[in-house]
Amino acid sequence: MSLREYQRKRNFRRTSEPPAKVATGKGWSYVIQKHAASHLHYDFRLELDGVLKSWAVPKGPSLDPSVKRLAMHVEDHPVKYGGFEGIIPEGEYGGGAVMLWDEGSWKPIGDPHAGYKSAKLKFELHGKKLRGAWMLVRRSRPSSGKDNEWFLFKERDEEARGADQAEVTTDERLSVKSGRDLEEIASARDRVWRSNRESVSKKPRT
Ligand code: MN
Repeated sequence: MSLREYQRKRNFRRTSEPPAKVATGKGWSYVIQKHAASHLHYDFRLELDGVLKSWAVPKGPSLDPSVKRLAMHVEDHPVKYGGFEGIIPEGEYGGGAVMLWDEGSWKPIGDPHAGYKSAKLKFELHGKKLRGAWMLVRRSRPSSGKDNEWFLFKERDEEARGADQAEVTTDERLSVKSGRDLEEIASARDRVWRSNRESVSKKPRT
């Protein structure tokens, strides 16, 4: 597993995102981060072999099993990223507010390595907002010609909802970490920038 791509895209003197470090323990954490970058999306992450396998889901998850949500497979992230909520500075990669929308653990159904390799991953989520059986499958005929297009969808079980019920992304708008909505997290931006400027001005001139 490599975090090279994660490292390459970021300037860690400017962003407070966690450093590129592969975790040594074997965990099964699961998180979704709601990310107001240039386009709002939900980052869906599953821990496997010391990193977070990651997919950017523009519309977020749906509890309706008949709805398949496009999930763009993106670079692995450090396990510690799963605790990150805050601001990525403007002008940096992914600049904007990040909210911890859901967290918990996942349990593969079948062999997760074989499933990931064959791009057909079946699993249970044990989150605060999402539960039950889910599936991530690579799109068989990608629209863009790229192979990073997957689908995320809910399997039919007691945690599923029908098409006539409200979307979970509409019902559940607050952070599982801080209880804040995305606007409140974004409004903390000014404070972050002010404190950055202060710490810069305190440095002795050389
Ligand atoms: Mn993102």
